[in-house]
Amino acid sequence: MKDEKLEVLLTAEQIDAKVKELAAEISKDYKGKKPLIIAILKGAVIFMSDLIRQLEMPVEIDFMAISSYGADTASSGVVRILKDLDQSIKDKDVLIVEDIVDTGLTLSYLIENLSSRQPRSLKVVTLLDKPERRKVEFKPDYCGFTIPDCFVIGYGLDFDEHYRHLCDLCILDA
Ligand code: 5GP
Repeated sequence: MKDEKLEVLLTAEQIDAKVKELAAEISKDYKGKKPLIIAILKGAVIFMSDLIRQLEMPVEIDFMAISSYGADTASSGVVRILKDLDQSIKDKDVLIVEDIVDTGLTLSYLIENLSSRQPRSLKVVTLLDKPERRKVEFKPDYCGFTIPDCFVIGYGLDFDEHYRHLCDLCILDA
């Protein structure tokens, strides 16, 4: 780890302001509803916990763990469910919370999988989007920041399980 350089891309203050903006938009859209917020483990946990505390309506929460094989920084494209939801989502308003959309493969797979469980509605909020790296067409319903093609860590995102605790989002120059 000692040879890896970090460069701040988004400060904790910038992230905090954006989370509040996203929460205001989501609160408006889900007014009078009680959505089920699903965080994708582990990277989206910090984003979810900040986001839900800014929402103005009651929510339920649940978690899914998805894996693309390998510890490489490039997504492999092979997706499998490591932990499924604890409950049925039939007739529920479901909002998936993701840390970052890269190739789009993970969320395309998840949307297809969760759609088949007949939710009333199904949307995605992602903190970060790297559209340059898309392999499949995918557009999140809510997006915090569009970022360039670089590998980022901090605010929940890791490199080989390190750096999740950092408050700023940083570019990792390994
Ligand atoms: P996708 O299926 O869209 O290619 O991959 C999404 C997942 O890849 C994210 O949830 C995250 O786990 C991982 N990922 C993609 N880009 C980055 C990045 O820049 N930093 C980190 N830490 N993970 C990333």
